[in-house]
Amino acid sequence: MSDGVQPALFIDGTWRHAADGATREVINPADGSVVAVVAEAGPADAAAAVSAARAAFPSWSATAVAERAEMCNRIADLLLRDRDEIARIETLDTGKTLRESQIDIDDVVSVFRFYARLAAVQSDRLVDVGNPAIVSRVVREPIGVCVLIAPWNYPLLQIVWKIAPALAAGCTMVAKPSEVTPLSTIALVRLAHEAGVPAGVLNLIQGSGAAVGAALVDNADVDMVSFTGGASTGASIAAAAAPHVSRVALELGGKNPHLVFADADWDSAVDAVVTGVFLHSGQVCSSGTRLIVEESIADDLVAAVVARAEKIRFGNGLDPASQTGPLVSTAHRDKVEAYVALGISEGAVLMTGGQRPTDPALAAGYFYPPTVFDRCDRGMRIVTEETFGPILTVERFTSEEQAIELGNDTTYGLAAGVRTGDTARAERVARALRHGTVWVNDFGVYTAAAEWGGFGRSGNGRELGPTGLAEYQELKHIWTNTAPGEVGWF
Ligand code: NAD
Repeated sequence: MSDGVQPALFIDGTWRHAADGATREVINPADGSVVAVVAEAGPADAAAAVSAARAAFPSWSATAVAERAEMCNRIADLLLRDRDEIARIETLDTGKTLRESQIDIDDVVSVFRFYARLAAVQSDRLVDVGNPAIVSRVVREPIGVCVLIAPWNYPLLQIVWKIAPALAAGCTMVAKPSEVTPLSTIALVRLAHEAGVPAGVLNLIQGSGAAVGAALVDNADVDMVSFTGGASTGASIAAAAAPHVSRVALELGGKNPHLVFADADWDSAVDAVVTGVFLHSGQVCSSGTRLIVEESIADDLVAAVVARAEKIRFGNGLDPASQTGPLVSTAHRDKVEAYVALGISEGAVLMTGGQRPTDPALAAGYFYPPTVFDRCDRGMRIVTEETFGPILTVERFTSEEQAIELGNDTTYGLAAGVRTGDTARAERVARALRHGTVWVNDFGVYTAAAEWGGFGRSGNGRELGPTGLAEYQELKHIWTNTAPGEVGWF
């Protein structure tokens, strides 16, 4: 084992290197430097982690819910204690600005606290069967061993949306962050250990999806797979889990419409369109990548958005002057550039961006500027496919019906925004849009207490809110006869 390699696998309460000694370099996307070298698990490590979770399940699932809630709160306290350091790690790993990383930590703290509270107040449901001698109860029990797989854009946030409810529910688990961004999850697992989470309850595996992610999913001892990532990966995970009849929860991509009517408040609309798509350089599943704007204001709105987009200062996320960071990897920048070339070849009109920055200070990083395409239509792949980069496409409408039709014309259905000064219209449009979240005169916000998830190809489960806990629970009906007698059938 070479020096400096982090034994980044946490299995049955101990930090380990990979069984075969494999490692992976973690790259800072702001300058291409290597920030860490971590153990890269193989199928044998994956199997060991699932076995450890299985062995820990009987005792962890039997703990009092108050104890599990207390554990969640302690992890939240430790996250706040180490907030600055973990935010720095997240920025080194993802490229996002320090401010964004700090907000992510505050968000995950709220998620741990929410599930600590919710689990503690959950009660059995009594069913009235019309016979006073019968006590019929529906109780909640942890589903078992969970495999939790997360993407690279919000590494800590996405894994905590899974770990917090799974822990609170009494499940044991194997977490696998993206191989591109493992560092904040390593820090989190250290804190969970410090908080007293028992050995085997929370195991950590690092590595590529194809090798180690697939091995985790294709394991008969796994009761549930919760996955956040791309739509095609989600489909292959569902197929791989099917023979084991494991429960599968999928949080997938989006191609999110942002509908702006002519009567919308102007300044906040311009601001929301720009922030909604260019935050984190567009690497957000709910990014408002499709601007669908009323024809009468379209030229003015596009001009205002372009002017604002051109002022965005991108740079190293550790630099307080940076408003957004780089793309996560050179491979991802290649993908975004290919989409820009495609948009041009499809006839979309490039209004700004579309070329790597020329500033030598940015040359070593994977930066890409905000890019706006006007005169787009639904026949273009740039409008229908998730680019996951800082690319805004513009379509126009002339009636409310057309706006709704365009907003719903996607195979995805994760999130949508509607901006209008007419409250009745806002309600009509919000109800008509087939998306898991609809923001009215706001964009990109969420709360731990409300469900998050997608319609259509954006997924099949819900995270956050009470449903986010229910995903990790089985329901059991217990029927008790307090006055047993003969049935008298035979
Ligand atoms: P990805 O699908 O490439 O990878 C996601 C995770 O799955 C990684 O940990 C990867 O190693 C693993 N993986 C890949 N193949 C696997 C396999 N065959 N079996 C098991 N695991 C496998 O996605 P990504 O590029 O990391 O993330 C970007 C995607 O995530 C985008 O599509 C984005 O929209 C989506 N996303 C969705 C949400 C949401 O809440 N719906 C949130 C964030 C990101």
